[in-house]
Amino acid sequence: MIDSHCHLDFSAFDCDRAEVLAKCEELGVRQIVIPGTQANTWKRLIALCGQYKQLKFALGIHPYFLQDFNDSHLCLLDENLRDQHGVVVAVGEIGLDYSLTICADIQEFAFREQLVIAQKHQLPVIIHHRRSHNALIRMLKQQKFSNAGIVHAFSGSLYEAETYIGLGFKLGVGGTITYPRAQKTRKVLSQVPLSSLVLETDAPDMPIINKQGERNTPSYLPLILQELQLLRPECAEEIQLACLRNTLDILPNILSSRGR
Ligand SMILES: [Zn+2]
Repeated sequence: MIDSHCHLDFSAFDCDRAEVLAKCEELGVRQIVIPGTQANTWKRLIALCGQYKQLKFALGIHPYFLQDFNDSHLCLLDENLRDQHGVVVAVGEIGLDYSLTICADIQEFAFREQLVIAQKHQLPVIIHHRRSHNALIRMLKQQKFSNAGIVHAFSGSLYEAETYIGLGFKLGVGGTITYPRAQKTRKVLSQVPLSSLVLETDAPDMPIINKQGERNTPSYLPLILQELQLLRPECAEEIQLACLRNTLDILPNILSSRGR
């Protein structure tokens, strides 16, 4: 299994990161992708991923962290992607979050510019969304963005899912599906093609059911897979294998051994 989205670099894991990774290994969670969130943490993220063979990174500026955003961050992104060519797996986590107080113009500017940079480096993107599917889809089309990527923690309509899939994107399946009240998302994820799904925890955020109030961890990924296996018509093994294959298809640099 691969956790395609986990913030294992966050301080919530500072006291037991090695133990968490050992637990993941034991449970068959063999690779973890850590998306970047802000320019001043990329260096530390790259260093962390150099220490553990299970860890892979993406680099990007998350909409939450745009308070002090300026053009120098985009130059730095461009430089880092060049230096980490063949190792960095995607540009992300980038996107639009209209529940935030950060001005939509700034978010849209940062998203658009990061799409341009991803296109230049021929990398996929990892997208964060909240109340923003229409704008995201419009901008992906306007930019003629052709490297696809992952719509992290997908929740949306079947139509939105199919539109992203039509643009080559995979949909991130996370802890949301463990909640019976997430009926709409559960239904959509049971209906889309199996070839469009990838697994993720978004740890330390997005706790699964019965673990609310606790730190989320990538070692819960098998529980998300189990829930997906209950939702889907295919057999359990086929689902597990497809999620693995889909993740490697969309983020092929996970298999890169450069720099090791
Ligand atoms: Zn995230």
